[in-house]
Amino acid sequence: MLQLLLDGLSRKAARHHRSKPFTMRNGAPLASFTFDDVPDTAYTNGAAVLEACGLRGTFYVAAGTCGRRDTHWRVIGRDQVRALHARGHEIGCHTFSHVRVDRLDARALEDECRRNHELLGGLCAGVRPTNFCYPFGGVSLARKLQLQQRFDSCRGIYEGINAGIVDLGLLRVIELYDRTLTPDKLRRVLRETCARNGWLIFYTHDVAETPSWIGCSATLLRATVAAVQAEGMACLPVRDALTAIGYRTDATASAHGAQS
Ligand SMILES: [Zn+2]
Repeated sequence: MLQLLLDGLSRKAARHHRSKPFTMRNGAPLASFTFDDVPDTAYTNGAAVLEACGLRGTFYVAAGTCGRRDTHWRVIGRDQVRALHARGHEIGCHTFSHVRVDRLDARALEDECRRNHELLGGLCAGVRPTNFCYPFGGVSLARKLQLQQRFDSCRGIYEGINAGIVDLGLLRVIELYDRTLTPDKLRRVLRETCARNGWLIFYTHDVAETPSWIGCSATLLRATVAAVQAEGMACLPVRDALTAIGYRTDATASAHGAQS
């Protein structure tokens, strides 16, 4: 009982306490398109839609699940991870075995990250994930503090637009799901992002004609990209958006490159 209470408090603190505050210094509003788990349709359709518009996205990969069949999809294989990287998309970390981090102790989480990075680094020379996304959105204060030290940013699943002083330990998102992203909502979030000079991060899973309940159609993705571009907003992978908001300077970026 007490443990349940403490877990609840820890989740609340993780959600509401800006543990890695950063004041955005972007010159203009911007957007990012991110894909979690990376079903094969996010590769075949999602990456293709972005590339057709000259854009790149962030794909959060749990390397231990590559090639595996899930309830709704098949996760991309190692060759596809390699191809995404080669084509300029960002590969982010989503743990190794796709587990909720709030159920892990510090050592187990460290192990998850290390294994993911070893496998990804072995797949594609130069891949060193610098951005993280919480599987299932599960987060505790202790694990958040641990992850935000290791990564430039950690992205959650709580809704919101990142603007002003943001929490790089738990970036906010807007669901890019056919089920929830109505034309009205899209207009509203774009308006708000522009008004607040914010950073709008979309996230989805599969990109299919009949998407899962946590996915979108290529039609919706295309329409969303078009709407963002019509506002004149830059669409950048998370790593480049961090540069645009003034978090990563060229010096830190090249230091990261040198380590990879
Ligand atoms: Zn996931």
